[in-house]
Amino acid sequence: MVVYLGVDRRWRHIQILKLVALHTAFWLGAWALVVPITARAADESYTVKRGDTIYTIARSYGIPPTVLAERNGLSRSFHVYAGQRLTIPASPVTRRPASATEAPAQNISPTALPRSIQRAIDQAPVRPGRWQYIVVHHSGVDTGTVKAMDHYHREVRHMENGLAYDFVIGNGSGMGDGEIAVGPRWTQQLDGGHLASEAQNKVAIGICLVGNFDECRPTPREMDSLRALVKALMARCQLTPHAVKTHQQINIVHTRCPGAKFPASSFLDSLQSPGR
Ligand SMILES: [Zn+2]
Repeated sequence: MVVYLGVDRRWRHIQILKLVALHTAFWLGAWALVVPITARAADESYTVKRGDTIYTIARSYGIPPTVLAERNGLSRSFHVYAGQRLTIPASPVTRRPASATEAPAQNISPTALPRSIQRAIDQAPVRPGRWQYIVVHHSGVDTGTVKAMDHYHREVRHMENGLAYDFVIGNGSGMGDGEIAVGPRWTQQLDGGHLASEAQNKVAIGICLVGNFDECRPTPREMDSLRALVKALMARCQLTPHAVKTHQQINIVHTRCPGAKFPASSFLDSLQSPGR
């Protein structure tokens, strides 16, 4: 939506913005003076607990929240969720000079989501209560790309919004092994097209893993990506593990999806433990 302001109102608007900027600068300066600096020789890792905010964590380590947010690639909402692992940067006094060519240290863990995916999850305009379920599917074929699925759903299944799922996870054939693709149904918060019931499509996020899991199991990387993605979506949409279903568990007509070799019970159990 474009908002047109009259000249007077626009001038006032600019004055208000200047005031806000001054206040921010003042408080950041005050922060540096007031908060005691605890020296850390090296980066540390911190797992977010329930009730934490970026501000409480930053304060406890004596660093500005903006520094902590930037270091962890958080979106402008500064949103953190329980179980998320943050890097606490080393103190500036003991830190080696930053080199332009040095890649930032990344928390490589089996459950880490790529920053671009976390950002897409954070930045989508999710209304409170919008989603009740996260549903797991398989593609039913050994190879798959988002483009091919989108074409199939748009042209053959006549879905005007194309790709029926919100997310697709590759198996190394067509897409990278464990690669996550974000579809427009998620970014634009459109209803799904992946369940037989239209009522369920309105409240269920769809994730499709490439592969035919009647024939073979999903790859370990697909499962790692699925677990990380589902956990991030649960946090973003304030859902419990009970909201996570396989297509077979939720569909109103029988389906084998996501296949007999999809490890449904061990996957659903693994969502119950907070850290992993
Ligand atoms: Zn399915």
